[in-house]
Amino acid sequence: DAGARQRDAWIVVDLESIRHNARLLRAKLAPGVRMMACVKAYAYGHEPVETARALLAEGVEELCVATIEEGVLLRAAGIRAPILILGAFPCESAETLIANDLTVTVFAETHITALAKAGRALGLSPKVHLKVDTGMTRLGVRTEDELLDVAQLCISRGLFIAGIYTHFAFADEALDETFTDRQLAMFQNAVARLRAAGIDPGVVHAANSAGLLRSPSYHLDMVRPGIALYGYHPAPQWGQALALRPALSVYARIVRIADVPAGTSVGYGCAYTCAGASRIATLPLGYADGIPRAAGRGAQVDVGGRAAPIVGRVCMDQLMIDVTETDARVGDVVQVYGAALGCAGSLQATADVLETISYELLCRLSMRLPRVIT
Ligand code: PLP
Repeated sequence: DAGARQRDAWIVVDLESIRHNARLLRAKLAPGVRMMACVKAYAYGHEPVETARALLAEGVEELCVATIEEGVLLRAAGIRAPILILGAFPCESAETLIANDLTVTVFAETHITALAKAGRALGLSPKVHLKVDTGMTRLGVRTEDELLDVAQLCISRGLFIAGIYTHFAFADEALDETFTDRQLAMFQNAVARLRAAGIDPGVVHAANSAGLLRSPSYHLDMVRPGIALYGYHPAPQWGQALALRPALSVYARIVRIADVPAGTSVGYGCAYTCAGASRIATLPLGYADGIPRAAGRGAQVDVGGRAAPIVGRVCMDQLMIDVTETDARVGDVVQVYGAALGCAGSLQATADVLETISYELLCRLSMRLPRVIT
């Protein structure tokens, strides 16, 4: 009940939608293909612990996060599924990683040395996934020779190679299948080279949501979706291939309405001026909560089923909307980001109008906004 909360702004996360999305994605996979759910960045702004539990209950086999802190949070909550840390890690954190049974991405000797030392100190065998850079130019080994060296070093230092992966450069703007197919071929050649050298690469994986949705040829042993689990198509302009259900909505109550004459300015820098007599409502959330400061450049919210534009610059803790065309009153609940696609103020519509992606709007939602998990 939002009324009982300390803030008149909050997020609702619908776990059943996340479970529905997991089922839709699972139906795309051949039997035996594993799913590693990407719950980094606070589960793309949703809330990681309940999200991870819901996904594991749905049969997702593994989880991945970006940082050690994100992995430790899941372990502290009692989650026991394999958790892969996708990012590079500071060598000083090797003991924390191993003690929390977090699987680590490796591609350089320094990591291996640090893990081997920490593993000896703890009497445990560190688990790693090897990373191959096939085109992101971000993390990973860049040649087959380098991969072989890194893999042999892992084995000689007592590390357990649980998997190997690469990451596709699929983006929201375009899908260049030629480029992706080249990435896949490079990756598969690298895996074959390891096998030829008698090294078991473990679970072989590459596909993010776009790879999963695009073609089974990208699925390999395991897929690694993020955004699609939360209900968004990675590239909405390709059309909705699946009936994914966005799981997150942001709500706020109107805390004040001003009836103002034409010519009245709104907010910092007087960046907006009312063209006619207007009703300007204030919502108690702002860029410190993750709403982009520039949202006044076209974003709308839903007020009782009608679209109302955000006007002026979004403040740190508040924003203003024009409710002239509505019968809104103080205390009314406004949908700032809606889950339903196509509704006024849907998160996807706001991302489109602000020329960003659903990912960014989701991940920006700060810890300050209470999450109501349903
Ligand atoms: N794998 C890696 C290495 C990633 O960095 C990400 C997200 O950025 C994902 C998988 C999931 O990607 P998506 O959310 O596009 O499915």
